[in-house]
Amino acid sequence: MKTVVVGGVAGGASAAARLRRMDEHADIVILERGEYISFANCGLPYHIGEVIKDREKLLVLTPEELKNLLGIEARTQHEVIRINRDDHTVTVKDHRTGTEYLESYDRLVLSPGAAPILPPIPGADLPQVFTLRNIPDMDKIKSFVDEKRPSRAVVVGGGFIGVELAENLQHRGIEVTLIEMLPQVMAPIDYDMAALVHQHMHFKHVRLALGDGVKSIEPSEQGWLKVTLQSDRKVDTEMVILSIGVKPENQLAKDAGLELGPRGTIATNATLQTNDPDIYAIGDAASVEHLLTHEATSLPLAGPASKQGRMVADHIVGRNVRFKGVQGTSIVKVFDITVAATGMNSRQLEQAGIQFKNAIIHASNHAGYYPGAAPMAFKLLFGLDGTIYGAQIVGMEGVDKRIDVIATAIRAGMKVFDLEELELAYAPPFGSSRDPVNIIGFVAGNMLRGDVETIDWNEIAGLDRETNFLLDVRKPEELMIGAIDGAANIPLQGLRDHLNEIPRNKRVVIYCQAGQRGYFAYRLLKQEGFDVVNLNGGFKTYSHAV
Ligand code: FAD
Repeated sequence: MKTVVVGGVAGGASAAARLRRMDEHADIVILERGEYISFANCGLPYHIGEVIKDREKLLVLTPEELKNLLGIEARTQHEVIRINRDDHTVTVKDHRTGTEYLESYDRLVLSPGAAPILPPIPGADLPQVFTLRNIPDMDKIKSFVDEKRPSRAVVVGGGFIGVELAENLQHRGIEVTLIEMLPQVMAPIDYDMAALVHQHMHFKHVRLALGDGVKSIEPSEQGWLKVTLQSDRKVDTEMVILSIGVKPENQLAKDAGLELGPRGTIATNATLQTNDPDIYAIGDAASVEHLLTHEATSLPLAGPASKQGRMVADHIVGRNVRFKGVQGTSIVKVFDITVAATGMNSRQLEQAGIQFKNAIIHASNHAGYYPGAAPMAFKLLFGLDGTIYGAQIVGMEGVDKRIDVIATAIRAGMKVFDLEELELAYAPPFGSSRDPVNIIGFVAGNMLRGDVETIDWNEIAGLDRETNFLLDVRKPEELMIGAIDGAANIPLQGLRDHLNEIPRNKRVVIYCQAGQRGYFAYRLLKQEGFDVVNLNGGFKTYSHAV
């Protein structure tokens, strides 16, 4: 059996390597349009920033190494330009010689990835305007930075590649302006969590232009670029990197009459076959099932591409496998903080018409009394029956561990009540006897059992003050960092002695700094017969998000 793989990086290389391990006698050919196979796309921004100093470290396997290690032939600079489904061949263009030839297949695996979206704006084709997808793109950007020593750069797009580029350019001493059309960076997380990222990026001197797009890029008389935004604001810069998203490489599939899915991805079934059972599609170019909604979706990330490649190889050798779906687990370093998400965010849940609640906590990564404890903001989205739909965490140390626990819990179909009971590793340098995962489970469980009722930060502004009494239960000295206008301050300590100062004819909207003391006050007042709600995430979430 002969398998031809189109694209030799994350998905394609993984499919080919697994196929060899499963079938020593399989005939496997990788056809790769670019100069490199199996390179570390995810490391590209870090070589530009000289965090990964050695360029060679990004080249995981060369075609020679692949041949020696696995007996797989990988032909670089060989582009598949047509799929001839009737005679099971592909037409290949050898870019080194300019010649074309036919290659036959029994099974064809398409892993052609996704290309950066180029917005149709004047100036996008100027030589100082870049995109980043592969090693040659990275080389171009790095040479420009090394040779021209720019002092200012504009990054367009606040997704994970955009924020990684902002950090890495800043690391090279370049002042960065990041322009994002949405009112927030990092679309996988909710606005109230992204607000923490904005604050950190400001702190790191990245200029953020949110809710604004690029209208045009023009060369200036001094040899710089002038970027004009939709708002007519102008930014002078020496270079621009466009990272506004990716579009699937679907031309081959389209021309071959393969069915397409959402956003032009190649549609697949549960075994990752296209509507032609001899042709599989994986990675950024393919759509697959969403674990939670069961609808077709695309998730352009390395982990799913690699695992899909592995699964396709198993299917080709006749194993009974099925792809269970993607859930959107992602993580990114933004200077000193980590931003991670799994599952669905509020916007996706609303669009899917799924009823949900959210809990926000501000916890420490490990016991507060052990040196180096760092805060994390942790948001959980869950159904009225306790189904865990998603989580988002912004913090420093220990974010990766917590998001992976929730990602695993979602995959295992666990409920928020299970999070309360999870027995997680604890010693003071690593966690707390009640890990943040347990605590968010307690909070969500309390909400579902009716032990606490919460109000979100964005409901505060619209509160009718005639019928709502705002109660701040922090210590007076904490008010120096800010407070909600018109709130009465009665600290939690001593609250029992001041119950007569709280009106019984109004709803009491309690808040503290992070939400926990507010919850303690809630329980006290509720049992004393007051009508109460507690501010979700406390003043910390409110003050960042408003
Ligand atoms: P790719 O890895 O892009 O490979 C597709 C290959 O197919 C390309 O080399 C292309 O040249 C080739 N090709 C296309 N058409 C043809 C054709 N007709 N004939 C022959 N060859 C063809 N993901 C994460 O999970 N975490 C990260 O931190 C992360 N960081 C990233 C940083 C950057 C800068 C970039 C660009 C991506 C990052 N990603 C990250 C995304 C991740 O790299 C992709 O999701 C993953 O590489 C997709 O694998 P793929 O096989 O579908 O496509």
